[in-house]
Amino acid sequence: MINVSGLQKNVHGEVMADEPTLIKYSRDASLFEVRPEAVVFPKDSADVQAVVKYVNQNKQSDPTLSITARSAGTDMSGGPLNESIIMDFTKYMGALISMDDQKGIAQPGLYYRDFEAETLKRQRILPSYTASKSLNTVGGMNANNSGGEKSIKYGKTERYILGQKVVLSDGNEYDIKPLTKAELDIKMQQQDFEGRLYKQVYDLIDMHYDEIQAARPHVTKNSAGYYLWNVWNRETGIFDLNKLLCGSQGTLALTTELEIGLVPVPKFSKMVVMYLPTIDRLGDVVDTVMKYEPESFESYDDYSMKLAIKFSFDFFSQLGFWGAIKLGIQFIPDMWQVITGGVPKLILMAEVTGDDEVEVLTRAQAIKTAVKPFKYKTHVARSAGEVEKYWKIRRESFNLLRKHVKGKQTAPFIDDIIVDPHQMPVFLPKLEAIINQYKLIYTIAGHAGNGNFHIIPLMDLNNPISSDIILELSKKVYTLVTEFGGSITAEHNDGIIRTPFLPYMYKPDIIQYFQKVKDIFDPLNIFNPGKKVGGSFDYIRSHLVQSHPVEHSS
Ligand SMILES: Cc1cc2nc3c(=O)[nH]c(=O)nc-3n(C[C@H](O)[C@H](O)[C@H](O)COP(=O)(O)OP(=O)(O)OC[C@H]3O[C@@H](n4cnc5c(N)ncnc54)[C@H](O)[C@@H]3O)c2cc1C
Repeated sequence: MINVSGLQKNVHGEVMADEPTLIKYSRDASLFEVRPEAVVFPKDSADVQAVVKYVNQNKQSDPTLSITARSAGTDMSGGPLNESIIMDFTKYMGALISMDDQKGIAQPGLYYRDFEAETLKRQRILPSYTASKSLNTVGGMNANNSGGEKSIKYGKTERYILGQKVVLSDGNEYDIKPLTKAELDIKMQQQDFEGRLYKQVYDLIDMHYDEIQAARPHVTKNSAGYYLWNVWNRETGIFDLNKLLCGSQGTLALTTELEIGLVPVPKFSKMVVMYLPTIDRLGDVVDTVMKYEPESFESYDDYSMKLAIKFSFDFFSQLGFWGAIKLGIQFIPDMWQVITGGVPKLILMAEVTGDDEVEVLTRAQAIKTAVKPFKYKTHVARSAGEVEKYWKIRRESFNLLRKHVKGKQTAPFIDDIIVDPHQMPVFLPKLEAIINQYKLIYTIAGHAGNGNFHIIPLMDLNNPISSDIILELSKKVYTLVTEFGGSITAEHNDGIIRTPFLPYMYKPDIIQYFQKVKDIFDPLNIFNPGKKVGGSFDYIRSHLVQSHPVEHSS
């Protein structure tokens, strides 16, 4: 049992353990409910360090003590949930420290929406932003290695983390930067926690170099496991622990500051929209469109479209009177499609961008011509308002489902699979055949260009059979995904829901190296236990939420 007043004496921020706080922090956007014992709101890095030291000192007398970082809590995997201490970075550690055209320096609790407002003033952007960009923080994006609609061109968050400050498990703060081999050698000679950590991680990776390189998943995006293959590059001679920390879900360290790279925003864009009555030829369409190098290539399904029409008031209410009128007009053709039953199975949106307006339009029209043989209804979006409509539906599809479907809940457990898009013509029918055995209602939206689909079923989690279905269906889907050389999570990460499935994707030796990395960084297992290593199917079963989901209003 945590001694709340004892812990409070160590920090300037608050430590809270009242009922409403514990209830609030027992949920994220996943299908889990885990009740913590206390929530700490650190004022600064000194507070973070003090809590880590407190846990270290008391771990022997209370082995259940641990710390799980939380930023906005929009994680879909159970990543920010824990039975011991939750550390919320949004209350006091959400400052933008500085920005220029190349990078921004921010505290982890800074909401992405506030960060973006500043980057856009410079015509710059962090292009790995998520569909949850109005809700999440840069700290959560780093810890989950998040990606989004532009990742097909720009990659995920890992590419933009230039450096970070972290509190390691010894309770001290360190600067994490890419190191040359000469710099690494100096670091490894240090006779302290940091020096030993660098040496042990380097030795582990260098000793098993080829095996670790071979374990790299053959997909354009991956958030599963620890990315050991990205840390040490013998060819460039660069050793960068940021590549390991980004995506590690707070299991290795607590991030207190981030240096985030930015890219220029292209001046012009055009969207090509395709309506697919079936997904039979999806793989071929993706292949065709990808030749024109879209900046985004996204999709949503018929069910998402019907929800968007049904709850369009939700969209309109965020936009003010004239905004609502403008967007409302854009929805008229879609409403008509829903009324007449002419809703396509899947809508594909390919966006091309550049600084030359004519070239961008020519490329969009070239896509339209190239997909003509498929005989799908296709057009280049005519106005910014129309483009906004498609983005609204795509970005909001999961949120609409979470908020509005009564009696059932969104159950993200096969929510983020990815396979090489060339495999899709063979992969997708097999996937559909597996899911259809269970007669579930589900939406499919996602990043068609990467072969990354978010499949979110609706389930009654109070029904005991649901946990059987979740585990059985996950096993079947993840077996299929790994047979196709894919990843069980492209961007949402492992958390509680996928950690036990990592052995489906990685060989036993690689799983052992994951455990070794965890032991090197966190020998007492004080950071976010049960994620990345040490998860279990029993834990999944026993922590499925039984009530209705928490709304994210931030
Ligand atoms: C509607 C909706 C749409 C989404 N769309 C996308 C999408 O398009 N792409 C995508 O990648 N994800 C998506 N997600 C998932 C989620 O929004 C992202 O993973 C997001 O980046 C998490 O940020 P957060 O601030 O909410 O982090 P949290 O949920 O608070 O935490 C996420 C993880 O980071 C760790 N963490 C947080 N802060 C720190 C810190 N300071 N130090 C160390 N570890 C830390 C936590 O322990 C946890 O494991 C979506 C979620 C929702 C609800």
